Amino acid sequence: MERFDTIVIGGGPAGLIAAGRAAELGQRVLLAEKNDSLGEKLLLAGKRRCNLTNALPDTEAFLSRYGEKGAAFLRPVFARFGPREALEFFNRQGVRTLVERGGRVFPDISPANAGAQRVLDTLLIYCRKGRVRILRRSPVRALKVRNGRVERLVTAAEELSADRYILASGGKSYPKTGSEGDGYRFAEQAGHTVVTPTPALVPVRTKETWVKLARGFDLRNVRLSAAVDGEKTDERFGEMEFTNFGVSGPIVMDLSPSIPDWMKRGTVSLILDLKPALSQEKLTARIGRDFEKYADREFSRALADLLPGALIPVILELSDIPPEKPADCVAPEERADLAFLLKNVTLTVNGLWSFDHAIVTKGGVSLDEVDSAALRSRRCENLFFAGEVLDINGPTGGFNLQACWSTGFVAGGAGS
Ligand SMILES: Cc1cc2nc3c(=O)[nH]c(=O)nc-3n(C[C@H](O)[C@H](O)[C@H](O)COP(=O)(O)OP(=O)(O)OC[C@H]3O[C@@H](n4cnc5c(N)ncnc54)[C@H](O)[C@@H]3O)c2cc1C
Repeated sequence: MERFDTIVIGGGPAGLIAAGRAAELGQRVLLAEKNDSLGEKLLLAGKRRCNLTNALPDTEAFLSRYGEKGAAFLRPVFARFGPREALEFFNRQGVRTLVERGGRVFPDISPANAGAQRVLDTLLIYCRKGRVRILRRSPVRALKVRNGRVERLVTAAEELSADRYILASGGKSYPKTGSEGDGYRFAEQAGHTVVTPTPALVPVRTKETWVKLARGFDLRNVRLSAAVDGEKTDERFGEMEFTNFGVSGPIVMDLSPSIPDWMKRGTVSLILDLKPALSQEKLTARIGRDFEKYADREFSRALADLLPGALIPVILELSDIPPEKPADCVAPEERADLAFLLKNVTLTVNGLWSFDHAIVTKGGVSLDEVDSAALRSRRCENLFFAGEVLDINGPTGGFNLQACWSTGFVAGGAGS
């Protein structure tokens, strides 16, 4: 049986950077990937543009995005290879980057949707330079563990062994990309606790069916507040969209990890402010001016300056003002009600979409049982972890891939 220094399980972003790093340090590395191709999920990242990290300059502020436990775990990892080092890594490999709204960092490439492929190619070249042996179509079936050490792993075709093993098989979200939660089973075989995985960064289903009137339309610069039994619990500002069955987009997804807990406490509503820059009074005055300008139009056609066309059917559906009423006949109290509606479009949450539509998994291998200095298992001395298989998740904005780069690079370098 051919022996390796390191075997990496999973050819996603975490596994590829881990394998490349171990090889760069002179190790003989094998990477086993169940799919025909590598980085299937990475290729979908950021609508194929790949939001590879975030430009937030303050490390503590960056870490806080992973929650208290995630931050404590990642602090020593970031000290070795953090967002700045990740960016330098990609820049050094020839990936130029640009920063967009919210500090989102993307490859600066044309066409923009080739960004994810560019990042994947960079990782493949990194692995190739280090002569990483890549086994495709090789699903790992089990780890054979004895006396607190992984002795070998079993693939569909053969048994393989190495001095150490890096588990980078991802979470359970978007299972069609290969991440079906296999790694949790392997971690349990090695004596680890797995915090129950749930879908996170996931679209929300709503009771209201009118959402489909504006499905696919991107709302920008809106405020979305969440309330439990009418009491406000959180809010976000940014982009979102309506879907056939509810709402999606960055600010919806960022609220989604808390929704299951809120639903246990009561009825959860999402309140959308379409005009957060204007107070209720200013918006009422603005509506008054528009309705004077379009005095000869019907109400339904007097909204053209105030709202994008795709949203007008929604507002007509929700407003009590008859669409055919002449704009100059809309009473002052009706204008005030309309301003209130534009700042308080209310949706009742029915639930979340499943893992099939989740950007990441919340839960995974318990951080208590992993030494974050080297990503080494505290249960099994030659087992290491990288990426989403761990109980780490962040919001949208490049934070999840950053966790993969950091844990992967440090786990890769740990065995030398
Ligand atoms: C649509 C979408 C868009 C996203 N966009 C962004 C974004 O722009 N920015 C961002 O930061 N994050 C984004 N994410 C999240 C990010 O892609 C993930 O956090 C990241 O891919 C996790 O990397 P990973 O290497 O840990 O796991 P994965 O990418 O899931 O890779 C795991 C690999 O392991 C393989 N594998 C699994 N089981 C086995 C087995 N038994 N044997 C062998 N191989 C196995 C899988 O086939 C897969 O190739 C997005 C996610 C989705 C779904």
